[in-house]
Amino acid sequence: MKLVIAFLVLFSLLAVSSASEKFDFFYLVQQWPGSFCDTRQGCCFPDDTKPAAAFGIHGLWPNYAKCRGRQGLVRAMLGDDAFLSTVGRRGKCWPEYCDDGNELSPWEIRDLVASLDRSWPTLSCKNRRSFQFWSYEWKKHGTCSNLEPHDYFARALALKAKHDLAEILADAGIVPSDTETYPVSSVRDAIAQGTGFVANLECNRDADGEAQLFQVYQCVDRDAKDLIDCPLAMPTKCTDRVKLPVF
Ligand code: 5GP
Repeated sequence: MKLVIAFLVLFSLLAVSSASEKFDFFYLVQQWPGSFCDTRQGCCFPDDTKPAAAFGIHGLWPNYAKCRGRQGLVRAMLGDDAFLSTVGRRGKCWPEYCDDGNELSPWEIRDLVASLDRSWPTLSCKNRRSFQFWSYEWKKHGTCSNLEPHDYFARALALKAKHDLAEILADAGIVPSDTETYPVSSVRDAIAQGTGFVANLECNRDADGEAQLFQVYQCVDRDAKDLIDCPLAMPTKCTDRVKLPVF
């Protein structure tokens, strides 16, 4: 009998620990809508309503501090840039799709929808409903967060609300413009000063091939409550100077 009880306790402990995903930190990723829209792919507005000229949430992504398995070894051997251009961003550097059957239900986040519409709008033309974007992010990243859907979305919103990145940049004289360019270092410094933490930056190119600030990656603790120093620097495609296009 004792043996059966010990077995049951051990089994339930194992079940709990395997359900909890072991990652090291989150990235809160915010996108500048002007830099999504003025690329060759263009953009569309949810319900034909133009979102505010503010950074919008792209996602809250659990991430490992070190890539795992063979991919990690290959990355270490090739270096970050070569790894990303050959293997791509699909290495095991983060967990994803941790519970495929776990669909986001609109009911679970009903009280957050107004805030999500404001702060997490889709710009994709493939599907103009922001709920599809939230569901996708939940399935791919949220199911690995060890959070219930309501906490996952509420914490992302709370983190975003702590610091208005567009305002922080404007305070440093970095304002949307279709002609002006800004040193990447001044963007990085402004965000570090305004939030207290260095963020990783991602750039893309407009239809004329000019570099522009696209996404800001802020590092967040495992509870998704506070910003932290980033455990690793991301390779960046941001050149010396970047645009912040008008939206
Ligand atoms: P992830 O970068 O989270 O792996 O994938 C983002 C997915 O969401 C892509 O399939 C993209 O087409 C879709 N998506 C929908 N709306 C947006 C948006 O506003 N911004 C971005 N970056 N992706 C979006």
